[in-house]
Amino acid sequence: DVDRLSDLEKLQVLGHGNGGTVYKVRHRRTGAFYALKIVQSDCDSSIRRQILREMDILRRTDSPYVVRCHGIFEKSCGDIGIVMEYMDGGTLDCLLRRQSGTCSEDFLAGITRQVLEGLSYLHSHKIVHRDIKPSNLLVNRKMEIKIADFGVSKIMCRTLDACDSFVGTCAYMSPERFDPDTYGGAYDGYAGDIWSLGLTLLELYIGHFPFLPPGQRPDWATLMCAICFGDPPSLPETASDEFRSFINCCLQKESSRRWTVAQLLAHPFVA
Ligand code: ATP
Ligand code: MG
Repeated sequence: DVDRLSDLEKLQVLGHGNGGTVYKVRHRRTGAFYALKIVQSDCDSSIRRQILREMDILRRTDSPYVVRCHGIFEKSCGDIGIVMEYMDGGTLDCLLRRQSGTCSEDFLAGITRQVLEGLSYLHSHKIVHRDIKPSNLLVNRKMEIKIADFGVSKIMCRTLDACDSFVGTCAYMSPERFDPDTYGGAYDGYAGDIWSLGLTLLELYIGHFPFLPPGQRPDWATLMCAICFGDPPSLPETASDEFRSFINCCLQKESSRRWTVAQLLAHPFVA
């Protein structure tokens, strides 16, 4: 693991998210590459302490399907630095965009199996990810797919609840997170990750965010109406029955009718 932030040399910016920037860095002594996420934290110190405690849970996760965390640091200015495994293939959506926009069912089935293994690990350790979406699924040269940013999403939620400005993450939120009384069932959060997975796979197949026409930027009101009042999106007729069924099992609006990770791992689409 990394002992000090000062051991790391910044090489380039990999990307920006809400409230944070991710850098490619190199460990000065070992030469190893990492991704370093700097989260600006303007909240008070008690919340920051709690964030750091939650990040400690993240640090102990140990699965080949979850991006590894190699250290968490609090800078003197209050910002938090998270040292992660560097994924040299970038995000799944970038990879697919480079490959012409959409991808084959076989390819997606392989991806799905790996993401389900990652979710299975998290859910069995009582961790809800809460932010499954294409930009949080990372790829490496070996074509391994890993889930990134779990737990981090909680930090984001806190800071964003306050400023109420962010739509990108909400786009993948399940109906029960907007309206627990109608769609909640026995609301425990796990089923929300399954909804987000279904939406993500659908997007990777059709090449655009399923609730909106290609190219349209989501706004909060349109999205919430579509998710809560519209029919859930589904695959076109051209997809196989297995794939269509799998997506239907993920995109049940009523959370208690959605399949669990264990059930989905046995679904014909991935089994
Ligand atoms: P959100 O803030 O909602 O998570 P996001 O996923 O787009 O949105 P970040 O998590 O800050 O934002 O990541 C920004 C970008 O940095 C990603 O889109 C990805 O390209 C890159 N990135 C993040 N983590 C890694 C990593 N471990 N290895 C390689 N690149 C990464
Ligand atoms: Mg992210």
